[in-house]
Amino acid sequence: MILKIVKYPEPVLSQPGEPVTEFNAELHRLVADMFETTYANQGIGLAAPQVGVSKRVTVIDLSVGKNPKDKLVIINPEIIFSAGKQYEEEGCLSFPDIREKVSRAAKVRIRAQDAHGKWFEMDGDELLSRCLQHEIDHLDGMLFIFRMSALKRDLSLRKIRKMQRAGEW
Ligand SMILES: [Zn+2]
Repeated sequence: MILKIVKYPEPVLSQPGEPVTEFNAELHRLVADMFETTYANQGIGLAAPQVGVSKRVTVIDLSVGKNPKDKLVIINPEIIFSAGKQYEEEGCLSFPDIREKVSRAAKVRIRAQDAHGKWFEMDGDELLSRCLQHEIDHLDGMLFIFRMSALKRDLSLRKIRKMQRAGEW
């Protein structure tokens, strides 16, 4: 089922998600729906708060559904190591039409649970690193506009207000 993506400034986007404790059918349905919703919006990642569910669940697929091996289910994640810097353009499904450069670590290592509760570690660099940091931020209630420079953030917020007034947001 394709879920409705909530847009900034919906309060759920700014709340830290609750840790997942039950790896049951309800969770598996949420994960499947989140992948479907990501693909329907041509996204590469989605966090549960973006569909109004305040839980520490995120899905990532850099292939946008083309390669099943690229499907990542990341639950209760934490970044355990990060190194370097990258400065690339980023977007977010909760901020349609907003794309700006954001500073991120070049590489990260995360520890997380899969859909069955099994702990794993994984490394990401380049786009995957950025995507992991963006989605894990969502689970902490942190949004990418607050990672932008003050100038870019102000420009983005002004653009959002303009779209809101025009009924396009
Ligand atoms: Zn996002």
